[in-house]
Amino acid sequence: LSWQKVDHVGIGHPGDLDHERGVCASWAIAPGWSGVPLRKHFEEVFRMHVYIDDISRAVALAERHTSLQDWSHPDAIYIQTGTGIGMGTFIDGRLYRGSTRGGGEIGHTVIDLAGPLCKCGNRGCVEAIASTGSIVRQVSESIEAGQSSSLSTLAAPITIEQVLEHAHRGDQLARTVLARAYDALGIGIANAIQILNPSLVVLCGRLARLAGDDLLEVVVRNVKRQCVATASRQVAVRVAKPKKDISTVGCALIAAEAQAQRVVRMRLSGTTGTTA
Ligand SMILES: [Zn+2]
Repeated sequence: LSWQKVDHVGIGHPGDLDHERGVCASWAIAPGWSGVPLRKHFEEVFRMHVYIDDISRAVALAERHTSLQDWSHPDAIYIQTGTGIGMGTFIDGRLYRGSTRGGGEIGHTVIDLAGPLCKCGNRGCVEAIASTGSIVRQVSESIEAGQSSSLSTLAAPITIEQVLEHAHRGDQLARTVLARAYDALGIGIANAIQILNPSLVVLCGRLARLAGDDLLEVVVRNVKRQCVATASRQVAVRVAKPKKDISTVGCALIAAEAQAQRVVRMRLSGTTGTTA
């Protein structure tokens, strides 16, 4: 793609965004990003309109646009599993954002009052137990505290891929930490189903890709156990297929959608004389 063909840019960001000002208000895992004027900075760099949105929402848009079978589910949620845990929500076929466009923070919903401290300041968030970083941290801390594990022979820092690999080989510590993480995700997703009543849940992101059916099985078990019967009976849960550049496609869709809305607003304001 040549730069001459680009006339607006979309950026997906995992932090808490002030959409009105185009500023990163805060980012739990990177405190230095608080107050960074993302839109202004990138508009100066690119010299064109820049649109910023939540990265989980961008991935959800891309996953839905590249999975035609999902379109028969107007109410659907897409769960991002990786360094952060997020959610893109479709209600009546439209991407839902919320009053400050901050909807979908499933990773920072509390599921265990006595759980580990989350980087957002709360205790027992889904993300504090089930993000890839949290899984690796729990394994590393247990090894440091003296628990035996085949992972203890590896050079630090260990990776999420190594944790999954050693769990498959039967390492008890890796299996215990992963089981808790999958359970935390399952509880969080079941809570979201109770509130939103979607007919489709798609597990996206690095952890879903690596864990596949192991994660799917735990999520489905939690949904059946926790949700009201009519909601759990009709909801389908699947793992997203690996797709190249899915985040980039999502950011392009965010920009295209926002640009289309901007053009419509400008035309309306031109014909009615009101400001939009
Ligand atoms: Zn949190």
